Amino acid sequence: MAEASDIEWCDSTFNPWVGCTRISEACDYCYAADWAKRTGQEDLWQGNRRRTKTWNEPRKWDRQADTFEEEHGRPRRVFCASLADIFDNQIPTLWRDDFWGLIRECDRLVFLLLTKRPMNIEKMLPAFWDEIKSRVWLGTTCEHQEAADRNVPHLLKHDAAVRFVSYEPALGPVKFTPWLHDDGCRDTPSAGSCYCGFEEFRIDWIVAGGESGPNARPAHPDWFRSVRDQCAAAGIPFLFKQWGEWMPVATIGPGPRLKIKDHRYLDGGTVVRWVGKKYAGRLLDGVLHDAYPEPR
Ligand code: SF4
Repeated sequence: MAEASDIEWCDSTFNPWVGCTRISEACDYCYAADWAKRTGQEDLWQGNRRRTKTWNEPRKWDRQADTFEEEHGRPRRVFCASLADIFDNQIPTLWRDDFWGLIRECDRLVFLLLTKRPMNIEKMLPAFWDEIKSRVWLGTTCEHQEAADRNVPHLLKHDAAVRFVSYEPALGPVKFTPWLHDDGCRDTPSAGSCYCGFEEFRIDWIVAGGESGPNARPAHPDWFRSVRDQCAAAGIPFLFKQWGEWMPVATIGPGPRLKIKDHRYLDGGTVVRWVGKKYAGRLLDGVLHDAYPEPR
């Protein structure tokens, strides 16, 4: 839990519980599992879960809402479960019921829920979802096309203040275009009609980034350029969160002495080098992409 979060797109983080299970390629180098290992809590990724004692923090932020909104001109955004997954099957129903109750209680806060299990959203939303949905941003991770095809249709079944995709860690190219238009799919990959089946709902926001950490896999810069351009064509806000540890050689300008650990040759003659997340930064072709959606 952190009052001031390091995650670029939220103000604070709150973990109602910790622990999870790896379920996709995006989980291979899960930083939360690494954290659990470092702190001697490996059991949290081997079936156990632990409820935290930080539940009063959101209540405190809710009481401070006037001050926060005066300063920022909008409500505080709280990212929930950075060390877990809200829609995890192994969480006791009572814990999740309490969590939904907390969102209902803290009605001056906006909650961001990012899941790799969007297929569980339907059965795990509370009966009073309509009451709280205008303050919840629901998101799913899509690391490559297969994950997008699997996850986005589940996400788009549900109304929420914002429906978003985290394209991080990017592990392959993704064509999001069919899910970026309000008026049905203009781009029909399979003959005839939209394959998402939820034409009235679209993705409202895409956050993209490369992988970080000691085992980070490189992303091709063209994957990010493509998603940037898909968002621009559809008028969807795009936030480029980070390169991660790798960045393309042409992007590395003069600067401090680099600790170059490795380099890789990618398709099309692109070369990326391991320069470290901090140095790599978050400019894509020299531009900061930092757009946020307007909640519905
Ligand atoms: S879903 Fe998230 S927290 Fe769970 S193992 Fe995967 S990356 Fe880690």
